[in-house]
Amino acid sequence: MKAVQYRSVGAAPEVVTVPTPEPGPGQVLLKVTAAGVCHSDVVVMSWSAENLPFPLPLTLGHEGAGTIEAAGPGVETLPPGTPVAVYGPWGCGGCLSCARGQENYCRRAAELGIYPPGLGAPGALAEYLLVDDPRHLVPLGELDPVTAVPLTDAGLTPYHAVKTSLPKLVPGTSAVVIGTGGLGHVAIQLLRALTPARVFALDVTEEKLRLARAVGAHAALQSDLEAPDAILEMTEGHGAEAVLDFVGAPATVDIATGCAAVESDVSVVGIGGGTASVGFGITPYDAAVRAPYWGSRSELIEVLELARTGVIEVQVESYALDDAPQVYERLQEGQVSGRAVILP
Ligand code: NAD
Ligand code: ZN
Ligand code: ZN
Repeated sequence: MKAVQYRSVGAAPEVVTVPTPEPGPGQVLLKVTAAGVCHSDVVVMSWSAENLPFPLPLTLGHEGAGTIEAAGPGVETLPPGTPVAVYGPWGCGGCLSCARGQENYCRRAAELGIYPPGLGAPGALAEYLLVDDPRHLVPLGELDPVTAVPLTDAGLTPYHAVKTSLPKLVPGTSAVVIGTGGLGHVAIQLLRALTPARVFALDVTEEKLRLARAVGAHAALQSDLEAPDAILEMTEGHGAEAVLDFVGAPATVDIATGCAAVESDVSVVGIGGGTASVGFGITPYDAAVRAPYWGSRSELIEVLELARTGVIEVQVESYALDDAPQVYERLQEGQVSGRAVILP
């Protein structure tokens, strides 16, 4: 089968032919219908050999959707042909976090060498995908896999981050979304659908700011040194009760803490190497700085339900598998609007 692989440190991903996998005990084989392209892959492909936690070559793609093709010996799963989405942050299934459905925070994954597909295990940018356990599959029903597949990460990750801050986003409050790309443009919709907060969006190009307004931001402005003051001014000097940074670079983390309110949540979701200074007199009183990772199994079911009821809609650009290397270039250059999805 064809697959898109990151084969050696620093090199561009390549379309290659690899053996079609066969499901072993416990596993389910999917015929991939759609796979999303996340900025985290760009980050992973920028790491040095010493910092890469898994061996290469790696088939990329940690947002996957497909139809049931086959199951390993003794595996009971959905009937062949059933469309499903893949829950990506695989855990051990048995620890306290996994028992809560929070496999993203599995206590044993590292020790057991369990990796998400596309981030250690072979990923979804291929014609077929092996899933280690049927519990990682969520039926898609009537949802279009092309617009639904980004919900497994670009939807689930901001959903988890926003959900944590819901108690703070009462009427009269504000939220800031920094970086209105794949994750950020879904975050804006989630904030509008789930909270009465005023939503301010920050990005660096007029095109991205247009998308932010189109998906519901009350105001969208340039992400620059003046942005924190602009937000303070628009919030009567108080700042925002929730700041979600989907860039996570040093400059954006400074903006994030610079426009945070007393008792706010600052969620640094982006993996841009930025760090926040936290301390008395440095951060607003009782502000919490978090760095959330992906989301739980139940949250994936919830976020798919929000799409089913039309509350959120991912903007996608779709491409063939052979185009994937160019899509990664487009993503790195900030040219993708919404989420790029590969149709193998
Ligand atoms: P994306 O490329 O689709 O979107 C990033 C957006 O940030 C783009 O619109 C870009 O124009 C904008 N941007 C760049 N520099 C900016 C700046 N200085 N100020 C404001 N906006 C700026 O990326 P994505 O796939 O949405 O991922 C966003 C980030 O989240 C990445 O760092 C990714 O690695 C990370 N991520 C984290 C998790 C997690 O669990 N923590 C999960 C998925 C992705
Ligand atoms: Zn991702
Ligand atoms: Zn676990």
